[in-house]
Amino acid sequence: MDKELISNGKKKVLKPETLMMGYGYKPEWSEGAVKCPIFQTSTFVFENAKDGKEFFEMAHGVREPGTHGAGLIYSRINNPDLEILEDRLTVWDNAEACAVFDSGMAAISTAVLELLKPGDVLLSSEPIYGGTEYFFETMLAKFGIKTMNFGVQHTRQQIINMVERGGATNKLGMIFLETPANPTNCLIDIEMCVDIAKHFSTKDRKVLTALDNTFLGPVFQHPLKHGIDLVLYSATKYIGGHSDVIAGACLGSKGLVNRVKSMRSVLGSMASPLTGWLLLRSLETLKMRMTTAAQSAQEIALWLSTHPKVEKVLYLGLLKEGDPQYSIYKKQCLSPGAMISFIVNGDEQASFRFLDSLKMVKLAVSLGGTESLAEHPAAMTHSAVEPHKRKEFGIADNLVRLSVGVEATEDIIWDLDQALAQV
Ligand SMILES: *Cc1c(COP(=O)(O)O)cnc(C)c1O
Repeated sequence: MDKELISNGKKKVLKPETLMMGYGYKPEWSEGAVKCPIFQTSTFVFENAKDGKEFFEMAHGVREPGTHGAGLIYSRINNPDLEILEDRLTVWDNAEACAVFDSGMAAISTAVLELLKPGDVLLSSEPIYGGTEYFFETMLAKFGIKTMNFGVQHTRQQIINMVERGGATNKLGMIFLETPANPTNCLIDIEMCVDIAKHFSTKDRKVLTALDNTFLGPVFQHPLKHGIDLVLYSATKYIGGHSDVIAGACLGSKGLVNRVKSMRSVLGSMASPLTGWLLLRSLETLKMRMTTAAQSAQEIALWLSTHPKVEKVLYLGLLKEGDPQYSIYKKQCLSPGAMISFIVNGDEQASFRFLDSLKMVKLAVSLGGTESLAEHPAAMTHSAVEPHKRKEFGIADNLVRLSVGVEATEDIIWDLDQALAQV
């Protein structure tokens, strides 16, 4: 399937949701199969030794890929399911290139290990996903890479001052952000971060920017458009969307993604052919799933905001004009998405009682699947965050996080209502 079709001399550019049905794949490659098969194979036969030599030269970047792309060698290096998936994923973010991984953490760690070196400083927004934070603070520290943090409350100038006073002016290697932040839905200004990276870049040292776009992407937020260098995903969440696969992705320019891919080939953190195939299937319904869940979430958030047992609802669709967060929202988000957090009247016990009383919504971590999931950040996903930090981020002991799925909205509301009645 091509991105553009021509009829009677007129060009039609196809929408991303249309391209998800077949972009990057041609039925004639596989006996006319309308769907790309699973290439469950570890290695590929070369037609002759010269081909084999050239394919390795392409893999090492010393030869330009031919018209059919780089030749297939070995499934740690390349595989049709992964290559087709990568082409298809570039469509949403309008990226030059993509690399897919066996998990979101594999995508983040492989990219950061390739792009930073000992002595570099990584500036990261907070709060961020627990696994990412552990990797930054504990693993990167072992390799001599220091992490500095900033939060939603910090201005451009405060962040610049912090980097300078921390002696990192000439050492800053990357700014990493996660927005909206989990679980509070706080927004970090992407443009501001890109600007800070420019401020610290010199002629021979570019400060890179990377953004974990798991919560709104790839349908509702396009960071590359705002100047971000690298977009990262836990494809386990919305991209996979059925709570049945762990996967990740990294997108950006050809130059950066090729570097990340060479590290991936060495670490062996690529996705398996079956994972690639499952994600190709998931992408066909991505926009439908995300749009339905977001519409439902807006209704649910409004309903929760008037419920007497609910103290406060943290949802992007409830931001009001005049709030600085609202102007950031308008600049960089295309929809409030489907993640709602809310504070239940009472203490930890009260929120536990609510969670234990749910009959249809499942009590589980993770998010972005077709089924609604609820969890308790302070006791579960964010339990490793130090108590004073939890307080600073607003992760209260009575805060509940809800990932809205695609069930009937009235059924979700019915369940939330009957469980809140038990509080
Ligand atoms: C889940 C998640 C990750 C980690 O992804 P895995 O696929 O579990 O490795 C990273 N970032 C965010 C925002 C996540 O929600």
